[in-house]
Amino acid sequence: MTLPAGYIEYFKTWEEKIGAFIEFAPEKGRSASKTASPLSGLPFAVKDNIAVKDFSLSCGSKLLADFTSPYTASAVQKLEEAGAVVIGKTNLDEFGMGSSTDNSGIKRTNNPWDTSRVAGGSSGGSAAAVAAGLAPFALGSDTGGSVRQPASFCGIVGLKPTWGAVSRYGLVAYASSLDTIGILSGSVKLCRTVFNCIKGADPLDQTSRTPTDRPAPPNNVIGVLSPSAIARAIADDFSGEAAKAAVLEPEVEAAFETAKENLKKLSYKLLEVEISELKYGVPAYYTIAAAEASANLARFDGIRYGKRPDWAENPDELIDKSRDMGLGSEVKLRILLGTFVLRSGFQDRYYLRAQRIRDGIRRGFEEHLGGFSENTGSAKCAAILMPVFPTRAFGRGGESALRSFAQKAADLYTCCANLAGLPALAFPTAVAGGLPTGVQLLGRPFAEETLLSIVEKYEAAHPFPHPKGFKAFWAQT
Ligand code: GLN
Repeated sequence: MTLPAGYIEYFKTWEEKIGAFIEFAPEKGRSASKTASPLSGLPFAVKDNIAVKDFSLSCGSKLLADFTSPYTASAVQKLEEAGAVVIGKTNLDEFGMGSSTDNSGIKRTNNPWDTSRVAGGSSGGSAAAVAAGLAPFALGSDTGGSVRQPASFCGIVGLKPTWGAVSRYGLVAYASSLDTIGILSGSVKLCRTVFNCIKGADPLDQTSRTPTDRPAPPNNVIGVLSPSAIARAIADDFSGEAAKAAVLEPEVEAAFETAKENLKKLSYKLLEVEISELKYGVPAYYTIAAAEASANLARFDGIRYGKRPDWAENPDELIDKSRDMGLGSEVKLRILLGTFVLRSGFQDRYYLRAQRIRDGIRRGFEEHLGGFSENTGSAKCAAILMPVFPTRAFGRGGESALRSFAQKAADLYTCCANLAGLPALAFPTAVAGGLPTGVQLLGRPFAEETLLSIVEKYEAAHPFPHPKGFKAFWAQT
C-alpha cells in the first residue's frame, strides 16, 4: 500500500523506542475493496493472535514464533473488503495471558508516554501502535480487559463488544466463553466505523449474532459503581495484596471523579448502583479462564503446530518437550490451574461455583441495564460507569512495578464485562504525572452504539490527549 510521505521514518523512530510490532510488512497487506468507503486506504494493525493470511500468527509465544497463518480472520476480512489494509502484527502477552505485554515470549513493548513503563496488556502492541500514531486503529482481543486496560494505559479508545457481536473466527482461543475481538483507536468516530464494519453474524462462528433492531435504552441516567465501595467489599472477604490491589491510586480516583463531573455537565444524571457479587469477579474469572485455556491450549503439542525438539523417544515425550520449551511460565501456570479446577471431584468446589458467581454478576448488571431481551422496560440506566484499572501504566522494577499476583487482582474492574458478556468502552479522561488514565462505560447486550454516542459527546467536549512527538497521518474518520 502507499503510505504517506515521511511515515516510514516516523515509524522507525517510534518503533525503535516502543517495540509494538512483531511483524511490520505493509507491502503484504491487501485490500479487497470494490467500492469507496470511509475505511478505503486506511492502514491498521492486528494483534498477533488474530489470523491474517501470510502474516505471522505467533500469539506472542516462542512455540509459534515461526508460524505463518494460512487464512484470514472474518473480522480482518471484512475490514479488507471495506478497503482497509493490514500493515503488521502487534505484540501481546503470550496467548493473551497478562496485563503488561511483558509475558510475550517474543519481545518487549514500551508505553509511548513513558518508555520505562509497560503499555498494558495483553493487547499492548496494538495500544502502543495506535497511541504513537503508527496506525489509526488496531484490532485486539479482550478476554478479561485486554483491549480496555492497554487503551487506558496509552490514552486511546478501547471497545470490547458484546460477546457474539463480532465473529471470533480466526481469533486464537484463550477462554472461548469470554473472548472477544475488540477495537483500539484514536477516536470514537473511527471506533464506530470499524465496529459497524466487523460486527454481525458469520457462518464460520456459530456463536456470532446480528441482533434484531433494539430500542435505545430509555433514559439519560448513567449508573456509577463506586470503586471505593467495591474495594471496601473486597477488603471484607480478602486480605493482603488481593484487597490492596483493588484500591485506586489517587490519580486514577481523581480521573474517575473528573469523568463523573464532566458527564454531569453533559446533562447525564448519575445514579449510584451496587452489584454485590462483583467482589468475587476475579476468582471467578481466573477459574473459568484457566479452565477453558487448559482445554483450548491442548492443541499446541509440537505435532500439529509449532516448534518441536530435534529428538524424542516417543509421542508423549515429543509433546512434553515441545510444550516445555515453547510455552512461557505464565501459560504453564494457567494450564495447571485449569486442569486443577476441572479435576473430577473438585468441579463443584471451583468451576461450578465460579459459574454461579458469573450468573450472579450478569443478573446484577441486568437489573440496572436491562438484559438480552428486547424489553428494556426495567432498565434504570443507559450505561454504567466504572474504572478500568486501579493504576496508571506501571513500571518494571522498584516502586512503580506491579507484581504478577496484584496484576491479576487488579483485573477486577475489567473482567466483569467479560463474565457478563456485555459491551464496554474505555476512554481517556485525564493525564496525571505524564501518564494517561481512563474510565469505562458498560452497556446492555448489543448497546455498543449507546456507549459510543455518550463517549462521542464526551470527546467533543474533552479532546483525547497524545504523547509527545505524536503526529497524525490519517484523519480519524
Ligand atoms: N489480564 C487478564 C488475563 O491475564 C486479561 C487478559 C485478556 O483479556 N486477554 O487473563
